[in-house]
Amino acid sequence: MSESLLQIASPILADAVRARLQAVYEQVPGVSCDGCDNPGKCCWLTEEEMADDYATMYPLYAIEYANIVDYVRAHFDADRQRALLDVVDERPQRCPFLTESGGCSIHPVRPLTCRTYGVLNEVAQVETVAASVKGKLSQHWISSFLSTERYTVCDLTVLKDAEKVDAHMQTMVAFGYERELIEMSDTVDWLDADRQVMFEKITGKKGPIRWTWGGFNALAQSSLSRVKKHFENVWKTSFLGE
Ligand code: SF4
Ligand code: SF4
Repeated sequence: MSESLLQIASPILADAVRARLQAVYEQVPGVSCDGCDNPGKCCWLTEEEMADDYATMYPLYAIEYANIVDYVRAHFDADRQRALLDVVDERPQRCPFLTESGGCSIHPVRPLTCRTYGVLNEVAQVETVAASVKGKLSQHWISSFLSTERYTVCDLTVLKDAEKVDAHMQTMVAFGYERELIEMSDTVDWLDADRQVMFEKITGKKGPIRWTWGGFNALAQSSLSRVKKHFENVWKTSFLGE
């Protein structure tokens, strides 16, 4: 591995950008998991899910990746930083941030996908939200919302911020959070120049917008010769790279 992410100036994100990201996160209602029978069970994949190529809990946007890298560098000792930044498995069975006791070791900076999980307790609530915007939003968005959000309900959570739920769900079905995170991800500068050039040659894009912790790490830190040799195939067979 190169040392690129440990050598660049820290933090990657300017305070104003971090504040904007935090403002997005604060729109998401909080939940309590105190009644969980198996804390953290939503942070790893079962054998059946692995076999089914089911993977919905690990994607993050580039802006979130940079935010988590900053957090890891500021809050963990050198060995732990190295261990987390060395994770290059694009689709691990267990989230690398999950603690032995089922907690999240990066809870203050966990990505959007983890924050929105379990806000609703029943699939019927997802269907009600979808029905409420029929004819007002693109049917493609509504179908996409229905097909993904039905897997993010958890009947064991208890809402902490009930007053935020209606606005939150309307933002979700209109992909409002995602659109803002995509726009922010397009401006974040976390890849070195050589990798940026190579990425653009292969994909036609400036950098990945949404991927996984391991996928981002592999691109940022594998030696340039390895990235050049293998990255095209990695990207083509990626589960979540966008
Ligand atoms: S979201 Fe549900 S499964 Fe995950 S820790 Fe909370 S209560 Fe448990
Ligand atoms: S980042 Fe935290 S909340 Fe999200 S899957 Fe990993 S351990 Fe769970």
